[in-house]
Amino acid sequence: MKLNVVQPDEAGRPWYADGLKFTCSQCGNCCTGGPGFVWISREEIVRLAEFLKITPEETVEKYCRKFDGRLSLRERRTREGLYDCVFLKEQEVPTAEGGSPQSVPLRRKMCSIYSVRPLQCRTWPFWTSNLASPEAWDRAAERCHGMSHGNRTFTQEQLEAIRDSKDWPQNPPTSAPKKG
Ligand code: SF4
Ligand code: SF4
Repeated sequence: MKLNVVQPDEAGRPWYADGLKFTCSQCGNCCTGGPGFVWISREEIVRLAEFLKITPEETVEKYCRKFDGRLSLRERRTREGLYDCVFLKEQEVPTAEGGSPQSVPLRRKMCSIYSVRPLQCRTWPFWTSNLASPEAWDRAAERCHGMSHGNRTFTQEQLEAIRDSKDWPQNPPTSAPKKG
């Protein structure tokens, strides 16, 4: 099995030692594509249930599927043959981005549970697999246009802390900037 290990430079520093840029635009690309898993813990289900104003049991029944003893969010097959996360929904883009109040509001698919999305989503794109090499980072950036873009740079310490986080920060530093 090939492990995703970070290749250090001659000085022993990881390739991202000077930091990496990332600014999420909430384009939703990382919430669709081929079939996959968005793992969700019991604690996260309780938070999600509170957000949805239903019980944790209903949340599991309606929005989760079991695989290998773990729970993952369900997916929805689109007409184009993609697999959307069940919480990826068409919504009105906030006015500051969608244009003047008089113009026709823009609509696009966005995460409908953004404030309580699971840790897996909160730690993107600083996953071990993406940090394994510049090539792996660039491959992921082909679909996630927030990577290597914008004016937010994460230092090595910051991005490794996100990569390794096990808890659930209320306002993760990877969140999309507030609009308006
Ligand atoms: S929970 Fe939200 S951010 Fe995570 S995959 Fe689903 S739609 Fe995307
Ligand atoms: S993380 Fe990347 S792909 Fe996902 S919504 Fe943000 S900019 Fe788009």
